[in-house]
Amino acid sequence: MSVIVKNLAKHYGEQKAVNQISFEAKPGRILGFLGPNGAGKSTTMKMLTGYLAPTSGEAEICNLTIQTAPLAVKKLIGYLPENTPLYLEMYVREFLGFVAETYGLKNIAQRIEEVIKLVGLTQEQHKKIGMLSKGYKQRVGLAQAIIHDPQVLILDEPTSGLDPNQLADIRSLIKSLGKDKTVIISTHIMQEVEALCDDVIIINKGTLVANTSIADLRKEHQQASLEEIFKALTR
Ligand code: ADP
Repeated sequence: MSVIVKNLAKHYGEQKAVNQISFEAKPGRILGFLGPNGAGKSTTMKMLTGYLAPTSGEAEICNLTIQTAPLAVKKLIGYLPENTPLYLEMYVREFLGFVAETYGLKNIAQRIEEVIKLVGLTQEQHKKIGMLSKGYKQRVGLAQAIIHDPQVLILDEPTSGLDPNQLADIRSLIKSLGKDKTVIISTHIMQEVEALCDDVIIINKGTLVANTSIADLRKEHQQASLEEIFKALTR
């Protein structure tokens, strides 16, 4: 159930947006993926989820390689992309049913009920997605990412746009999902990393500058705050 990334690279013309990065994400642990804007986080996540072909290197999801088994890999992964693209004209339940069908799920009605409860969408479940606030749209994005109960969750800034209460709810949901799944989340928020993550990778200008556990990162940097460590590594 691990994610193993080996020398993964994506070039846009001359620019090495992702430059031969290698890391591993393990089941039952939450991996924080940090880096300044433009560092290559979204590009990496898009490659892991099969939405973007790498220039070179490989990634293995639960023993399947993304290049040779893209469809099988998509079934194993739940992906919340950056800025959650959603069908705004669809109703929440209609959209979740549509996603469930694309995965060929059985007991779709029951699963929709479950995920609506899990992500806290009960109050808004009968609305059109376009009518929802940013935080609730984000919850719909999370619901579609987990509806097929994937072993691996890849979440690109999952708490962006949430108010403090929503933030606490969604963090605790991610924490509980992380107990038995492999979770990779990108975020800019250091408190989030402290609250959620066991391990961390930091990317700067396409290159990995840290790949360790939070505890070891702290030890290596004489217990400095994550904020200070991040600044020092991504200057
Ligand atoms: P992050 O998610 O860390 O903010 P991205 O992965 O979105 O960073 O972007 C990494 C770099 O690749 C940036 O310099 C960005 O401008 C560039 N980039 C991303 N997508 C494209 C694209 N489709 N064409 C050209 N350059 C791109």
